[in-house]
Amino acid sequence: MQMIETFSPEETFELGQTIGQQAQPGEVYTLVGDLGVGKTVLTQGIAKGLCIEEPVNSPTFTIVQVYEEGRMPFYHFDVYRIGDIAEMDEIGYEDYFYGQGLTMIEWANLIAEILPEHYHQILIEKDLEKGFDYRKITIQEIGGGR
Ligand code: ADP
Ligand code: MG
Repeated sequence: MQMIETFSPEETFELGQTIGQQAQPGEVYTLVGDLGVGKTVLTQGIAKGLCIEEPVNSPTFTIVQVYEEGRMPFYHFDVYRIGDIAEMDEIGYEDYFYGQGLTMIEWANLIAEILPEHYHQILIEKDLEKGFDYRKITIQEIGGGR
């Protein structure tokens, strides 16, 4: 488990960039944290780290947004509005989760039952006592015998 503290959006973006630079094809990252905590900021950093130039925002009206231009495909899921887990089957989520790109899932706690056995969990939390721009970011390996 790794704990990183950031004190500005730029620092969170840079952490994402490092994650994107180090990412391996087929990895799955989940991203959990309250609204406005910085999930999209971190995701934009990851996209930059994958050498994706086009703008990355939360895929509000689609469950998954696919970016093919970087050094590997980037599958950005936001499952916040999912009504039923069957919607994940309909979009063929397994092709992404078990494919050759980097998968990033915002609000992954809502689809816990279909997460792969092994993934990286990223939790972002505020602590107002440490300031408005403070974020505690915890990265943990789930499964995979580690
Ligand atoms: P989410 O996707 O989790 O709903 P966003 O990434 O869209 O959240 O928004 C996070 C907001 O918090 C942005 O307005 C950003 O500027 C602000 N912010 C302040 N401090 C930080 C920080 N340390 N890391 C990330 N975002 C921060
Ligand atoms: Mg967001």
